[in-house]
Amino acid sequence: MINQNYINNQWCDAVSKKRFDVINPFTEELIESVPQSGTEDVQKAVEASREAWKEWRFIAGGDMRDMLREVAVKSRKHSEELATIMTAEMGKPLIENTDEVEWIASCFEYYSELGRDQIGRVVAPTQDKQMSIVVYEPYGVVGCIVPWNYPLLLAAWKIAPAIAVGNTCVVKPSELSPLSILRWMETCFDHFPPGVVNVLTGYGQETGEPIVTSKGTNVIAFTGSVETGTRIATLAAEQLKKTHLELGGNDALIVCSDVDVEVAARGAFWAATLNCGQVCTSAERIYVEKPVAKDFIDAVVSQAEEVELGNPMGSTTDIGPMVSSEQRDKIESKIANAKDQGAKLMTGGNRPTQFTKGYFLEPTVLTNMDSSMEMMQKESFGPVVPIQTVSSFEEAIKLADESDYGLGCSLYTNDLEKAFTAAREVKAGSFWINDPLTDNEAAPFGGMRKSGGGRELGIEGLNEFREAKHILIDYKVRQKDYWFPYDLDKGRKT
Ligand code: NAD
Repeated sequence: MINQNYINNQWCDAVSKKRFDVINPFTEELIESVPQSGTEDVQKAVEASREAWKEWRFIAGGDMRDMLREVAVKSRKHSEELATIMTAEMGKPLIENTDEVEWIASCFEYYSELGRDQIGRVVAPTQDKQMSIVVYEPYGVVGCIVPWNYPLLLAAWKIAPAIAVGNTCVVKPSELSPLSILRWMETCFDHFPPGVVNVLTGYGQETGEPIVTSKGTNVIAFTGSVETGTRIATLAAEQLKKTHLELGGNDALIVCSDVDVEVAARGAFWAATLNCGQVCTSAERIYVEKPVAKDFIDAVVSQAEEVELGNPMGSTTDIGPMVSSEQRDKIESKIANAKDQGAKLMTGGNRPTQFTKGYFLEPTVLTNMDSSMEMMQKESFGPVVPIQTVSSFEEAIKLADESDYGLGCSLYTNDLEKAFTAAREVKAGSFWINDPLTDNEAAPFGGMRKSGGGRELGIEGLNEFREAKHILIDYKVRQKDYWFPYDLDKGRKT
């Protein structure tokens, strides 16, 4: 398996020769070791990226389109292998990782066309014989720092739009999932000029921070936790460097009493436990209207008890292990804390006994929740379904909106008025009505409040990586009568 950094289309070790291990969360065994990159490696990658930018910034639209499309074609061709590596390194079921490869291919296809569609505009001049042209230009080198829960997708959402408009990239995957992206580079990016996309593996502080502080990076596009996002924003602010932050969430899901409870329960349970609950837009707080609360809770508990946990490579596995023992420890302590604060454990909460290895945790349903509890206020990022019964729809939207975060929010209802009232009142970058957690590469994705400020996907996701320049031209060379010498009595002619 490929296990080196990718700089200038070449494979290399870290200058220090240091490496770290990547562990399979299902077998708890070593898969491979990869370089622990440091400041010198970042410098090499940034220099390669800056050199490549000199030409890439002016690439013809048709050539860019062909190269991005080729990524899509090659990604589909290597789908099985890429999905298998992702499953091995981070434990998401193979079926979900196969979907992920399809989404990265669609993302590259979408930006291959959008990136060459409109690269500026012409505005009406203020004087005769002038032309005012606005061109959108790339920033330069984009540092892309990404998490482990969607190792290729979240990198693709940055790399595709960034290079489509003429930037080059230095990418740092999570230390927990660096292998799939290295193989992706090897199989799907070898047709790019050297230095356009570079990948460095390593831990956050040793590898990520030098990317943020390097004078050679112009934008930092980051997906990860609020804590790391705050650190990155602080470091970048010292250089007034642009950041594009996609951070954590604590998404609400509201169930109104007019819906088919069985469908809502299935949707809510999936939204809370997909990828073992390790999705930034997981349903983290469920508010259910009292008249249907009992039936809804019973249906969610049945789901939790029926769902198949197991080998993430298995074709019928619904939920695999968590990504690491540390993540599992964190969730276990959050569950214990919620119970201490009065939550009632309906099912789950334990490490399943049928597995001797793997960072498994049972899907856990908690009721008796109230909004003062820590679990309702902060992101959990695990297979937990905390349910709070509410006495009215108005109470539900008030609670859903009362959050430091604003990533996503879901609602189950057939009532148009309730649907649009909630969609307009709750601050969230995505609002799903009867269809939780569904994305569309042509529509923006991102957070409000502490969930971040940027947007990925859609035209908005492209605009994050380009800046406007106004080129003004007067095609008749002539003296302007508003130049010196001034004379107030004559006034201005133009
Ligand atoms: P994390 O913040 O710990 O790490 C994310 C990335 O940042 C990793 O590559 C890590 O090595 C790097 N990093 C860590 N410290 C750094 C530092 N000081 N400087 C530079 N880089 C540093 O997050 P995680 O545990 O990998 O991912 C889970 C979090 O990501 C959750 O909070 C989740 O909600 C969030 N997330 C958000 C989105 C979104 O689109 N909004 C999507 C997926 C995940």
